[in-house]
Amino acid sequence: MSASEAIYALSTAQGRAGVAVIRVSGPGARSALEALTATQADTLTPRRAVRAHLVSPIGHTPLDDGLVLWFPGPHSFTGEDVVEFHVHGGRAVVAGVLGALGTLPGVRQAEAGEFTRRAFENGKIDLTEAEGLADLIDAETESQRSLALKHMGGVLRHAAEAWRSEIITAQALAEAAIDFSDEGDVSAQAIDQARAVVERLSADIGRHLDDKHRGEILRDGFRVAVAGLPNAGKSSLINRLAGRDAVIVSDEAGTTRDVVELHLNLDGVRVLIADTAGIREAEGKVEREGIRRGMAWLQAAHLLLWVSDGAAQPLDKIPDEIAEMKIAIVRVVNKSDLASSHHSFPPPGDEFRISALLGTGVDDLVAEIARRAFERTEGGETSLISQHRHRVALDAAHKALGKFLSSLDESPEIGAEHLRSAANELGKLTGRIDVEDVLGAIFGRFCIGK
Ligand code: GDP
Repeated sequence: MSASEAIYALSTAQGRAGVAVIRVSGPGARSALEALTATQADTLTPRRAVRAHLVSPIGHTPLDDGLVLWFPGPHSFTGEDVVEFHVHGGRAVVAGVLGALGTLPGVRQAEAGEFTRRAFENGKIDLTEAEGLADLIDAETESQRSLALKHMGGVLRHAAEAWRSEIITAQALAEAAIDFSDEGDVSAQAIDQARAVVERLSADIGRHLDDKHRGEILRDGFRVAVAGLPNAGKSSLINRLAGRDAVIVSDEAGTTRDVVELHLNLDGVRVLIADTAGIREAEGKVEREGIRRGMAWLQAAHLLLWVSDGAAQPLDKIPDEIAEMKIAIVRVVNKSDLASSHHSFPPPGDEFRISALLGTGVDDLVAEIARRAFERTEGGETSLISQHRHRVALDAAHKALGKFLSSLDESPEIGAEHLRSAANELGKLTGRIDVEDVLGAIFGRFCIGK
């Protein structure tokens, strides 16, 4: 399947740079190459860079002295003819080349993710590999990178395809049992074989589902909620953490809109920290909404830092509604700098005593967060499941296999139906079937030019 229009885009980041790469994919890539370089595509060695003087097709004004690479389809990223222009990354050069491409017939600007979408539609990659590629581009930490590389390389695709082909084997056996139902022995034997295949398969998928969400936590981040009474020093602590190196402070769009997340890279693990406050009596409508979001963030957190004002006596108790949540809690007693002037400052316990104001004790607290994040995600790089969509599909396939096993003796016909649904779930995972609705969401995550 090949789109009739060629697409083009700047594939490197916007702005001034040493080199910029502009890519064209589709049937018009050949004429784009020939129009801009006055070189016949067939004289070029595929996939090898050659120097080229780029000119505008109208008036032959020089645009740049750069490199050109020719990837004739189907041996290209998208599976179509692709040409790459490696030019100097100045704004006028890039604008000149893009402008020149825009004048060519049958060539238009690419939409976000369109190159990758074409690769998917031409069967070069499956959905899990496309997701791996998107994750690789977004990766901020080593462990995210390692997980994304494995998915881009097809770990999940290969597993899902192997599982799907085993299901097809079991389907054939179930069909045989149905066809030979008047020959008891043959039928019983086929049922036994089908059961053995599915039992093994179900155990295998079950083992992957039972991974404590390590891959998803590595990909999405280990979530640390900061809560405590007003004035305990939560925002001071967050600000103190934000002042460290390698921190990105973001106001993430979506469900966490008013919860500001801090992204830390702790020993290669992505850690998200947010002030979720959440226990004040809400007065206004806006504040109630903020608290609702804070609570939602808190409920999905992996660790809670309960911050207390050590100078306030007596030391506050963690509210029951929080203590009853199934979440690990680290107690942080703040304002240790006031200890000398407050005789009543509590004696050290198993809490972390810090001064958010001066920074004392904050390194130890960060080391503790890193330790817990590592413990919770250890081995996650090898997880087959790196996101919710994978879990949903595998879980549904696993359930269908369970139903097959429990219905087999009563009715091989119903059993066969469950196998079909298990195979469908795996097909949705890799994008072989029925996934139009998720394509927009997946490819829309890419930037233009990818
Ligand atoms: P939040 O309401 O929990 O976010 O608390 P804030 O971070 O806004 O802090 C409340 C007050 O306590 C502010 O006046 C801070 O300057 C002060 N504060 C925060 N941390 C410390 C600390 O470690 N030592 C001292 N002495 N004051 C602090």
